[in-house]
Amino acid sequence: MKFLKIAIHKPFRQAFDYLPPAGCDPTQLQPGVRVEVPFGRQTLVGMLLRVTDSCDVPADKLKAAITILDEVPMLPPALFKLACWASDYYQHPIGEVLLGILPKALRQGKPESLSAEKCWYVTSDGWKMSLAELTRAPKQAQALRVLREHKNGLSEQAMKIHEIQTATLKALENKTLVRCEERWPIQEATVANPNNLALNDEQLKAVNAITSVGQQFKTFLLDGVTGSGKTEVYFEAIDKKLKQQQQVMVLVPEISLTPQSLQRFQQRFSARIATLHSGMTDSARLTVWSAAKRGKIDILIGTRSAVFTPLPNLGLIIIDESHDTSFKQHEGFRYHARDVAIFRAQSANMPIVLGSATPSLESLYNVAEDRFQHLHLTERAGVANPPAWHVINCQQDRPEDGLTQTLIERMKTHLAAGNQVLLFLNRRGFAPVLHCHDCGWSSQCKHCDVNMTLHQRPRKLCCHHCGALQPVPSDCPTCHSPNVIPKGVGTEQLADVAQRLFPEYSVTRIDRDTTKKRGELQRLVDEIHAGKRQILIGTQMLAKGHHFPKLTLVGVLQADAGLFSSDFRGSERLGQLLMQVAGRAGRGEQAGEVLIQTYHPEHPLLQSLIKNGYPTFAQSLLQERELAGLPPYCYHAVLQAEAKDPQTPFDFLQSAKHCPHEALQLLGPVPAVIARKAGHYRAHLLVQAKTRRELMQQLPTWLHQLLGLPQEKKVRWKLDVDPMDGL
Ligand code: ADP
Ligand code: ZN
Ligand code: ZN
Repeated sequence: MKFLKIAIHKPFRQAFDYLPPAGCDPTQLQPGVRVEVPFGRQTLVGMLLRVTDSCDVPADKLKAAITILDEVPMLPPALFKLACWASDYYQHPIGEVLLGILPKALRQGKPESLSAEKCWYVTSDGWKMSLAELTRAPKQAQALRVLREHKNGLSEQAMKIHEIQTATLKALENKTLVRCEERWPIQEATVANPNNLALNDEQLKAVNAITSVGQQFKTFLLDGVTGSGKTEVYFEAIDKKLKQQQQVMVLVPEISLTPQSLQRFQQRFSARIATLHSGMTDSARLTVWSAAKRGKIDILIGTRSAVFTPLPNLGLIIIDESHDTSFKQHEGFRYHARDVAIFRAQSANMPIVLGSATPSLESLYNVAEDRFQHLHLTERAGVANPPAWHVINCQQDRPEDGLTQTLIERMKTHLAAGNQVLLFLNRRGFAPVLHCHDCGWSSQCKHCDVNMTLHQRPRKLCCHHCGALQPVPSDCPTCHSPNVIPKGVGTEQLADVAQRLFPEYSVTRIDRDTTKKRGELQRLVDEIHAGKRQILIGTQMLAKGHHFPKLTLVGVLQADAGLFSSDFRGSERLGQLLMQVAGRAGRGEQAGEVLIQTYHPEHPLLQSLIKNGYPTFAQSLLQERELAGLPPYCYHAVLQAEAKDPQTPFDFLQSAKHCPHEALQLLGPVPAVIARKAGHYRAHLLVQAKTRRELMQQLPTWLHQLLGLPQEKKVRWKLDVDPMDGL
């Protein structure tokens, strides 16, 4: 008798037992095939984990699976193994991991049909034909004109952009002027003159180190200041792998996957390059995923979730901006793509490169422990020099509407020289709070313990935590005084202020509000590149990755929030962010300048960063972490619980704390930083272990006990292994 252990796409921690479907030889089944199974009244798609000889449930109580959907595993063995490891490591239900990493159609049980796209080409008749002969069919003439401009064919999608109807093309086809062919959507583009730069010594050393390990696992930390030419190092290493017919995976933060960065790859490699990111349609993702699985993609550039793409000939993984927090998923399956990628590289024997100008403390610790090899690029490549830093003491030079006099004066100088200026303010909206001058009322969210932000265009109060909206009151809701005034400055207001102060220059604002529309971010960035905008105002969206050669002055308006963060990672984040923002200045031929407005100019963190630079700053933070016994010198997981009343989460976490847990240290429970969010009260318990191994060994048994606690059904709880925020 054989049984099938099947994982389903639901938040269950166990797999389910089924009998094989009638007529199926279970000994032939491989893990990773999808199986349709009855589940309660539903029919669900599950994935086979293994075939077993015994089962705890009596056989006559078991149902039979309905059909086996795949002949060969949908997830190739290497990826199946990766997903199982990630499910164990992050303590996330196996079915949600295995099925969650599949493109949607496959998760729903559909076959993996590879849709080649229809593509239209001009025929030799079509080339000979004079457009003048088509004057009586203007649509056809126009279509033929467009098609002639596309020697590599025009896809159905491109037709839509050019507003060409299929009927028009059919008419041309009948005249044998055009023809239609099916084409694989990811094509190899040929680059005539790849722009290979002569690498400097440090770059060469880095490339040699990476390529010399061949097909062995090794993690490199490519530590290079912004603009030092890390990308060129990736390119050389990638080139070597492509020449050996291997595939390369490049992971980037969502925000850096811009058309410009993609274009750099396209101008450098004659290869099949594809991207995977959250802005794609389900069908486009499926196409890329399937092509990758068949080895039909050479370079895959993707965000976080791309780490789970099947690539049979993968030979190298690169993680750009590897310190970026967006590699950690903060919802549902809370994996860290950097760590998953390292495991993947290890189990498939290949080098992995973590690039950063501001490496995470975890990575630096791994270097100190000899687990990673440190590669340095200490100078900006080409002509650019590092920017000069200055601190503005806001106690003496009081900012008015966000800007100090010193900063305004420097802006004048840089703008007059024909350069661009960036003002960095990590706070969108017009003002962070609306306040009554007479009774002290403030615009608190009804559902969260935070203030609602005032927005002017359109005018509304908005909670940035739960999304609640409210009309802006004309007088105070409690004392009816008309003196309700906005307090503090957000990017929306700053843009108005800057435009008022500098009417002769053009201001652009880049934050989540101005870039909601698809393609809008790109349009704004293009305008900056074209020199149409001189004053750039933005949140961290603008701070990362962009390369604006004419940008010479960066003003940081509010550094103080990061100096006094309650999160122990706050200072590391502040250091990284300031370096990133500063890295935007002086990337071209002219020297850059960074001005930081602060009420705490003597703050040791700020001083250390400015005087000694990021490496020394990071080392001193590491020493602090060691003294305080914090990660990376220990390992964390967080048990978070929430409910509609404040007490239940605490009761649940208290009981959890009393479950036996051997080598785990349990601290708390304490309320979350924002204790009430979207109407739910939240608290957490910190789980700490000396080694990763202890954490991994103890967590499952401890978690198992939680499932039996009486309060367990009354709260929503989740576990976050290696949490990156909210502490
Ligand atoms: P990073 O990725 O470290 O920020 P990039 O690779 O984007 O740096 O390089 C920054 C700039 O320096 C780019 O314009 C790039 O073309 C140029 N660059 C990189 N390496 C060299 C080199 N060896 N010689 C000349 N210019 C270089
Ligand atoms: Zn009032
Ligand atoms: Zn809210």
